[in-house]
Amino acid sequence: MEKRTEIGSLGEFGLIQRLAEGFTSHQPWTSIGIGDDAAGLEANGFKVVSTTELMIEGVHFDLSYTPLKHLGFKVASIALSDIAAMNAIPAQLSVGLGLSNRFSVEAVEELYEGIKLACEEYKIDLVGGDTTSSPQGLIISVSALGLVAEDQLVKRSGAKPNDVICVTGDLGGALMGLQSLEREKQVYLANPDMQPELNEKNYVVMRQLKPMARFDIIHDLKELGVVPTSMIDCSDGLSSEILHLCNASGTGARIFEKNIPIDDETYLVATEFSISPLTAALNGGEDYELVFTIAQSDFDKVSKITDVTAIGYMTDIPKERVLVMKSEQIVALTAPGFGPQ
Ligand code: ADP
Ligand code: MG
Repeated sequence: MEKRTEIGSLGEFGLIQRLAEGFTSHQPWTSIGIGDDAAGLEANGFKVVSTTELMIEGVHFDLSYTPLKHLGFKVASIALSDIAAMNAIPAQLSVGLGLSNRFSVEAVEELYEGIKLACEEYKIDLVGGDTTSSPQGLIISVSALGLVAEDQLVKRSGAKPNDVICVTGDLGGALMGLQSLEREKQVYLANPDMQPELNEKNYVVMRQLKPMARFDIIHDLKELGVVPTSMIDCSDGLSSEILHLCNASGTGARIFEKNIPIDDETYLVATEFSISPLTAALNGGEDYELVFTIAQSDFDKVSKITDVTAIGYMTDIPKERVLVMKSEQIVALTAPGFGPQ
């Protein structure tokens, strides 16, 4: 049987100490880490950006198909994706935990293995958090801090008409991964002897379980000397993110179906589930790619980055945010949360 240590046997401070062991510092910016009343960061003339993500078991994740290690990595990635969307470099992470007695010390350590992996992948420091009990289930909150030179900070609001709209990676995969995992869960609940059939869905499943914050692209843009005019990360689907950029910038947008990047596996799985791959890209969430705009004069430089696709451009007609279909039909971009367009 697997070892199970009750949290009560270590106590809150013992647990924190155990979780903090094995985390090493990656950041010269970190001046105070775990163990004091608050953490410290030397900003040295940079702007500090901060963000928080809160995830609740049964609402944002399902532990029947989400390994705790992946969950730890994912919640860190999600928070860091918001730091990337400001064109900032990530520096520090704090983790808040609400734990019911269902969770053993070993289970929490699994979660922290994933957080540690994220700290190594993104070269950031875990500098603190809070630990408390929860009546049921797991609650996890991650706050992240990043740094950016003042003239490189990118907000949602800087896009101008004729700027090129770009996206990183491909879209719709995370939703198809979620659909696949949910279906396997139902199959398992109906017949626990069934083996999961996820082999051919590895890419989309990993898009759901282990998203990456795209600092590789932030780095490429910096190398090329390009500062996007506006940027957002893609957590709710492409339509929603474009509408956010347009609203904040006071522009319209025209994007083209034929340019929207969708992976072959996403296509196949979407077809299997009778979901339109285009709908998965436009309205599926959790891909954590970046959507940004650049001045036309930067287009040649940015087209050197292999994992960036130009999908359209901003316009000077704020009420016109549209998708040009392959059939040349033009449809309005809509997203839940925005009401009637
Ligand atoms: P306080 O009573 O001031 O809230 P705590 O005893 O909760 O302090 O925390 C002690 C130290 O451990 C602090 O540096 C805090 O940031 C850190 N810490 C607490 N919980 C966690 C956690 N889940 N992960 C990482 N660090 C934690
Ligand atoms: Mg505390």
